[in-house]
Amino acid sequence: MQWQIGTVKVTRIVELEMAGGTRFILPQATPEAVKPMQWMVPHFATEDGKLIMSVHALVIETPERLMLVDTCIGNDKVRSIPTWNLRHGPFLEELAKAGYVPEQFDTIMCTHLHVDHVGWNTRLVEGVWVPTFPNARYLIGEQEFRYWSQVDPATLNEDIMSDSIQPVLDAGLVDLVASDHRVSEEVRFESTPGHTPGHVSIRIQSEGKQALITGDCIHHPCQIEQLDWSSSADFDSDTAAETRKRLLAEHNESSTLIIGTHFATPSAGYIRTKEDAYYLDVSADHV
Ligand SMILES: [Zn+2]
Repeated sequence: MQWQIGTVKVTRIVELEMAGGTRFILPQATPEAVKPMQWMVPHFATEDGKLIMSVHALVIETPERLMLVDTCIGNDKVRSIPTWNLRHGPFLEELAKAGYVPEQFDTIMCTHLHVDHVGWNTRLVEGVWVPTFPNARYLIGEQEFRYWSQVDPATLNEDIMSDSIQPVLDAGLVDLVASDHRVSEEVRFESTPGHTPGHVSIRIQSEGKQALITGDCIHHPCQIEQLDWSSSADFDSDTAAETRKRLLAEHNESSTLIIGTHFATPSAGYIRTKEDAYYLDVSADHV
């Protein structure tokens, strides 16, 4: 998938798409509860009410800059979810097919520091974790970084700090930034807390066109209709629901393209209202 927002081109690089097995993320999304939401079929749910999700990164190419938002799960990492554990996926080959090599990127952005958003920050070379994007600045929200820095790794399922964050810090490639950081003329961070304490979304504006890369403040499109369905991975589900309500009200019936970080193909659409409920309209033609 690829979208054009004014002079900015956004390209999706998929690492993994999956149907079902997502109840651990959204426990309220039972097949019985999902089935009546027919607008989600076939893109975001199956006929029998299983959610479909994607793990992907988004390349942002502006006239001057080359950026990547959220670096997925990564290869060779010890993870608790079986399909995420010790992967040998072709992510870098997919990036190459889209026309990009890691050395070209000048900016890597993490919407938050969860396992499926930081993986390709590093790769394993001769037993050592090295930065995958050696010429990039890695932008991490300062609030998000401070929070995860003080959590005892022994209390977490996986130690992402040591294999995916510390190596880029040690290489001197990290900039800790404010949650409203302006990255370029077209691209800026926007605070969308709740899923994690310092979670951010990425706003793109160019030539009067707008897009918002959500990150995980909207984990799955079902939360666009069911605003109170929260993710079991949410740090603060009340704040997460408030963030969704604010974002959806702000973008309802607007021309801002909403690009989801876990939305399955086609991964983007517009917020519209039908019978007093919001939904994601994916019918408009995208580039
Ligand atoms: Zn995620």
